[in-house]
Amino acid sequence: MKIIDILNDSKNPVFSFEILPPLKGNSIYKVYDIIEKLKVFDPKFVNITSHHSEYVYKPLPDGTHRRVSVVKRPGTVAIAAAIQNRYGLIPVPHIICKGFSQEETEYALLDLNFLGITNLLVLRGDLKGVEAEVPGGRYHAYASGLQEQINRFNQGIGLDDTHIEGIGTPFSYGMACYPEKHEEAPNMESDIYYLKKKVENGADYLITQMFFDNEKYFSFVGRCREAGINVPILPGLKPISRKAQLNVLPKVFRTDIPEELACRIREAKTDEEVKQIGVEWGIRQSTELLEKGAPGIHFYTMSVSESVLKIAKKVF
Ligand code: FAD
Repeated sequence: MKIIDILNDSKNPVFSFEILPPLKGNSIYKVYDIIEKLKVFDPKFVNITSHHSEYVYKPLPDGTHRRVSVVKRPGTVAIAAAIQNRYGLIPVPHIICKGFSQEETEYALLDLNFLGITNLLVLRGDLKGVEAEVPGGRYHAYASGLQEQINRFNQGIGLDDTHIEGIGTPFSYGMACYPEKHEEAPNMESDIYYLKKKVENGADYLITQMFFDNEKYFSFVGRCREAGINVPILPGLKPISRKAQLNVLPKVFRTDIPEELACRIREAKTDEEVKQIGVEWGIRQSTELLEKGAPGIHFYTMSVSESVLKIAKKVF
């Protein structure tokens, strides 16, 4: 079933969440633990993030370091298949273009097609740690290039115009958006201009970057509607759980922390207190978003599945 049909047809707000593949060498049971906890809220789909290889420096006995390339969180496609088989839930693997050549992407699409996984979230991917682009363009520069590759794949056209047999159900997909603007966009108008193109070219729905101030979401949705972007825009929320995130989240995700929330966290004595504040804020945010018409809430669960559980108990 397509995610867009779920979003359009559901009588109740849609609960969904994102998980990260475990760090290399860790067990898939870390993923299952999160799903076991949250499946009682009837998640309509589960997203699985994707990670390209990064360069790390391994210390050598002689005191020098060797630069090696590592995928810290491998296994997106395999985990998607495992979730589908074990729980019968709809997996939505993320497909990113940075760090993956167009050929590698084609192989991933073939694997997904063989596995009967037909929903994707299509993204450019983080730039951090990606080797510089080589002339000739192994990677798509933007998510829109990857989107075009997937659209062609859906028509049975592979790279170099090779024919792809037996597509069956074509991929349907969502893409990312940023209520506080993507960090590289010169302004919101420009970001929405490219976002509209992604929707015109086939993105069925959008999922937002995390945000803590609902006004940013409402104002962004308003601007998208004015620009003629009419697909569902699913808010993505992550409960705050540690004091250090007051500085980290704005830096990494370019999100503002509202003064009221920041003050409460600053005054908290322990991270346990911060977790509780994060849960209360998450309940407040989710409740208002749903009351004012958001199609559902998509939770980022990384290291906060207990907090998501507490919020979902109150909201779903
Ligand atoms: P794009 O749509 O390519 O946009 C990137 C920037 O380029 C924007 O500023 C946009 O305005 C501009 N732009 C877009 N198209 C064009 C064009 N044709 N010409 C000129 N400018 C253009 N990262 C991961 O590595 N793995 C994940 O699994 C992952 N999951 C995510 C899930 C969600 C819901 C979100 C919101 C983000 C996720 N990210 C993930 C992070 C994401 O990859 C980064 O934010 C990345 O920097 C941008 O991705 P994008 O798909 O929005 O890129």
